[in-house]
Amino acid sequence: MKNKRNERLTFIRCPLCGKDDSRDYLWFDEYRYVQCLSCGLIYQNPQPGIRPLHKRYSKKYFQYEFRNQRNFFNLMRLTLRDIRFSDKLAREFPEKTRTFLDIGCATGLLLNHVRQQGWKVKGLELDTYSVRYARRIFSLDILNQPLEEAELPDRSFNVIHWSHVIEHLPDPFQGLKKIYSLLKPGGYMLLTTPRIDSFQHYLFQKEWRSFHRDHLTIFSGRTLKQMVRKAGFGLIRSFSWGGLAADKEHPLKPFKRVIDKAVKTFNTGDVIFILAKKKINN
Ligand SMILES: [Zn+2]
Repeated sequence: MKNKRNERLTFIRCPLCGKDDSRDYLWFDEYRYVQCLSCGLIYQNPQPGIRPLHKRYSKKYFQYEFRNQRNFFNLMRLTLRDIRFSDKLAREFPEKTRTFLDIGCATGLLLNHVRQQGWKVKGLELDTYSVRYARRIFSLDILNQPLEEAELPDRSFNVIHWSHVIEHLPDPFQGLKKIYSLLKPGGYMLLTTPRIDSFQHYLFQKEWRSFHRDHLTIFSGRTLKQMVRKAGFGLIRSFSWGGLAADKEHPLKPFKRVIDKAVKTFNTGDVIFILAKKKINN
């Protein structure tokens, strides 16, 4: 079976509970989502394999990342501030030995920022254009490999950050397990992904910004936490943001600032952040 882009598709089992019992959830021209009847996870089925997915990264993708790099970086910096990354979390690890991995590091702004705070940093990035840019501009140490095949030693990082990556993985659970093994005992994972049980999804329904052919899994707060725990992590904190997208037209647009603030307060944003920890004795 192939899709309109001539990519070969295969049917998969639910990446969260492993069952093969789902109902149709939402259809688009190029792809479709199903919902697992057992655990409620929403995922694309059938899916393209890893190779065709990786081929989707092109110069156009880099241009998008490049254009938005400041915005993305500012959002990540706000998150670091919210979890008191520099003045609290970092201090759990001895100075000069702190190690930080950014998966899907794009043009490297976050890595450069964390390195300036004295961390040893490393990046993982699929898109070759972004890797070249980040190496050239910031002289960063970046592996041009997918997470599934990343040649990194286990138990080698204090903190692993990945923002808007997990929803792209054909097997998000394996991705979480890989991160768990790459972390040192007591290390932290910082994860950001779209969240369906949110105000924006309620408002836009099928037009919601995070239904995207590259988003293979769509999490709710509940299914995400369930998968994170199943991979062995302890949950430390979770919050959400994203009230009304700046690029979407809607009659409520004049109230964007109020809405943005309200969804953060009531935790109904369509982007969820999770801070999770690997057990000390693991
Ligand atoms: Zn399931």
